[in-house]
Parts: sequence; C-alpha cells; structure tokens
Amino acid sequence: KEDRGPQVVERPESGVTGRKIIYDKDGKPCRACNTLLDFRMATGGSVASGSTQSKPKDSFEKKETVPSKDCPPDVEELGRSSWTLLHSIAATYPEKPTGDQQSNLKQFISLFGKLYPCWFCGEDFQSYVEKKEPQVMTQEAFGRWLCDAHNEVNIKLGKPTFDCNLWKQRWKDGWDD
Ligand code: FAD
Repeated sequence: KEDRGPQVVERPESGVTGRKIIYDKDGKPCRACNTLLDFRMATGGSVASGSTQSKPKDSFEKKETVPSKDCPPDVEELGRSSWTLLHSIAATYPEKPTGDQQSNLKQFISLFGKLYPCWFCGEDFQSYVEKKEPQVMTQEAFGRWLCDAHNEVNIKLGKPTFDCNLWKQRWKDGWDD
C-alpha cells in the first residue's frame, strides 16, 4: 500500500479545545468566533502575536504609542467586553426612560445583534431578541431581560447561570463588604 505520509487536515471541524471551528462566509476560520487556540490551529499556527513592525528608534523619548503585542480579540475576550458594555448600559439606563430612550435602546439591541463580530453569536442573539422582546420600560426590566439573555448563552456554553436578583450588585451598585 502506498504511504501517503501524515494526513494534512485542510479544514478541521473541531479545534484543540474540542469546540467546533467556525468559518466565515469566505471559508476562512473566523477570528472573532473561535478561541485563540482553535483559531491558531485552524490557520496552521501562523497567528501573529502582535505587530511585527519594529519600534521606531526614538519612540520612547517622544512618548509615541508603541505597537503593542495585543492580539485581535477571540470569541471569549470579545464576549466578556461586550457583556461588560451591555450590562453597563443597563446599569446607567434611566429608571423611568422616555419614549425616545426606549426606542433608542430597542434599536441598539437590534443593531447589536446584526453587527456583532462573531456572526453566529449575533445570529443566535437576534433569534433570542425575536423570541423574547427586549424589556425597555424600566432599568430593572432591561437589566433582568439582559441577564436572562446572558444566561441563555451561559446555558448553551455549559457555564453556570447567574442569579438575576444580583444583576444590580454585579453591574451597578457593587457588593456589600
Ligand atoms: P462572560 O459570560 O463573558 O461574563 C462576564 C461576567 O458577567 C462574568 O464574570 C459574571 O460576573 C457576569 N455574568 C455572567 N452571567 C451573567 C448574567 N446572566 N447576567 C449578568 N451578569 C452575568 N460565545 C460562544 O462561544 N458562543 C456563542 O454563541 C456566544 N454568543 C454570545 C452572544 C453575545 C451577545 C455575547 C455578548 C457573547 C457571546 N459569547 C458566545 C461569548 C460568551 O458569552 C462569553 O462572553 C465568553 O465565553 C467569555 O466567558 P466568561 O466566562 O469570561 O464570562
């Protein structure tokens, strides 16, 4: 039998974390939809860890911004930052919003799902919004609606759910010491 050497997986279905690899519509692995580890694996381990630009000689003296080693966000970092933004919006949303404020928030939530960089996360979020209409009448109603939406993703990912009675301590008032 002919020895064809080690098998090269062109388009792996799952990554090193065991999660399904998500591809963009152009067929390339989606950076914002996978963990960094899985993305690295799916792209043959060739993910640049940061800018390769060399630091300009006099940049330190001039206090210029030096290109950092930070990478574009993976699905987890993007998610954490996005939930922080969303829950913080809930925490600063008026307790008695005007009609305009309610309409702005509804539009924002709708656009958020459409524009979310992890496309399959955004699609699921849009389905949730269609199934459970965002509750924008009061701050408390929106904070709870968002907490439930976040819990839906927690369940999907096999993470513990969060007690929504505590959303304000977590995102607005802080914990009693
Ligand atoms: P996160 O879930 O990011 O939570 C951050 C913090 O929020 C926690 O530490 C906790 O203090 C608090 N918290 C947790 N649950 C709640 C809650 N219910 N209410 C209030 N506060 C809470 N990832 C995927 O892999 N697949 C997906 O389909 C997916 N869909 C997503 C959809 C949206 C709209 C968003 C914003 C993110 C999505 N993510 C998805 C990312 C995922 O939800 C997590 O953000 C990511 O896995 C990192 O998780 P984490 O454990 O750091 O905590």
